[in-house]
Amino acid sequence: MSDPREAAASVVDPEIRVITIDELGILRAVEEDPASGRVVVTITPTYTGCPAMDVIRADIRRALAAAGHPDAEVRTVYSPAWSTDWITEAGRAKLAAAGIAPPAPAPRGGTVVPLTLAVRCPRCGSPETEQVSRFGSTACKALWRCRSCREPFDHLKAL
Ligand SMILES: [Zn+2]
Repeated sequence: MSDPREAAASVVDPEIRVITIDELGILRAVEEDPASGRVVVTITPTYTGCPAMDVIRADIRRALAAAGHPDAEVRTVYSPAWSTDWITEAGRAKLAAAGIAPPAPAPRGGTVVPLTLAVRCPRCGSPETEQVSRFGSTACKALWRCRSCREPFDHLKAL
């Protein structure tokens, strides 16, 4: 049997295959129920209704079974809500390398800055970007285009 946290953390996001659910910040906890010995994994979806979550739940159970922990339970918690702040530095770098604009960290102190101000082109870094479609290659991403280099890119939706 191998470490259940390691097994769960190695699961990649089914839509953005370059990043793990740990790097994306949706893996909240991996615990072993002392009574039953079952592994309980807690995840927080990136946004409510993301269809990828069913795939992620199945992938976690499969990874844990392969690591010697059958019958793992995956719990979904919505509070506190996932925020793009939870994406790790390594995760942000991977998203940028894959041409996906990582959402900027939310500003501290309660001032809400519209996300559109923070979307930079992942290829040339230009802030001159525009949203083309609310839905990109998947429901969790929006399609944007850079006005400087004219390249379209996916932008992860932030809450
Ligand atoms: Zn550009």
